[in-house]
Amino acid sequence: MKYVSEFRDPVAARALLSAIAARADQIGATRAQPVHIMEICGGHTHSIFRYGLDKLIHPGVAFIHGPGCPVCVLPMARVDECVQIAEQPGVIFTTFGDAMRVPGHRCSLMQAKAAGADIRMVYSPLDALELARRNPDRQVVFFGLGFETTTPSTALCIQQAAREGLTNFSIFCNHITVPEPIRALLGDPDMVLDGFIGPGHVSMVIGIHPYDFIAQEFRKPIVVAGFEPTDLLQSVLMVLTQIAEGRAAVENQYARVVPEHGNPVSLAAMADVYEKRPSFEWRGLGEIDASGLRIRAKYAAFDAEEKFGIGYAAGPRNVPEPEGCACGAVMTGRIKPTACPQFGRGCTPEMPLGALMVSSEGACAAYWQYGGQRAAAEEGALPPSPVPGDSPGIFDPR
Ligand code: SF4
Repeated sequence: MKYVSEFRDPVAARALLSAIAARADQIGATRAQPVHIMEICGGHTHSIFRYGLDKLIHPGVAFIHGPGCPVCVLPMARVDECVQIAEQPGVIFTTFGDAMRVPGHRCSLMQAKAAGADIRMVYSPLDALELARRNPDRQVVFFGLGFETTTPSTALCIQQAAREGLTNFSIFCNHITVPEPIRALLGDPDMVLDGFIGPGHVSMVIGIHPYDFIAQEFRKPIVVAGFEPTDLLQSVLMVLTQIAEGRAAVENQYARVVPEHGNPVSLAAMADVYEKRPSFEWRGLGEIDASGLRIRAKYAAFDAEEKFGIGYAAGPRNVPEPEGCACGAVMTGRIKPTACPQFGRGCTPEMPLGALMVSSEGACAAYWQYGGQRAAAEEGALPPSPVPGDSPGIFDPR
């Protein structure tokens, strides 16, 4: 395959849907429940809704939306700390755009900017590094946020800042890792999960072997997947095939991008700059052991937590989520976004209560954008209105 349109080929998709239906019928003959497959990554959740795969898939398969959206799992306390840093005199606080509208207790970064804090959206931590070079009399802080996909770029920036001897650049590190929350979910007796679609971008960095425990300890199949519709359908078929054959293995559907052992340059930079925190707080999920990264002592001069004496450097916090917010239940696949009492009522993209409604990878944003707004209207939460983009998607192989 050469062009992206080939990954959206209706003929190939129809064949995959038929094969999925046959496998689902075969598995369904021996069980009452549908097969629960969790797509870990929020990017996959959006692809599923964008292409209408949730409507096209056999009813014997249920997509469970996982916690793989770094903005969504950011606890309110960390947003509060971003604002706290940004409001310090002389600070230029830089962030990816996704994080600007995530609600904190007092305000979001967008609201803090409107109130006068110098907060700037950047496309890369390199932009923040350049700001530090150009503003030697200001402290430039970059909001380091994300899974293993974005961690290497902040690690490389810290190494570069150290080489240049910059004293006015630091990272507020909120980097997190994928395997630990999956282990936590698998250890939860209330969760019913039969298999996983593994994250494509994260796996590009870490490879496929950090997921070995899912197959070996928990006997669940996992298939690392790409983001096009035929990628996802083929991955679902691979998971079902493993289940039908009584196997549990880590398989790589996205081999055109994901190397088995990851990216050695990225892994070396991460190992040099970061170490595991004992635990890290996830929004809606609480503290999860060894699920976050912190900057090693040798790079402490570039650690905003140390520089400003906040975050985990200031001691433990216990900040409750807003009343009625069901982000945790949505992120662990226990309920669908439309089952949250706030969906379309107290929480909309314009007035978000939870990060899942504003992040480009959030499950609530996906439901809203690709049909949830209509569902909310039908349930009486909203007045009916025509919704741009509320369609089966650009991809309909039927
Ligand atoms: S609708 Fe809002 S409050 Fe409810 S789960 Fe989604 S983001 Fe959280």
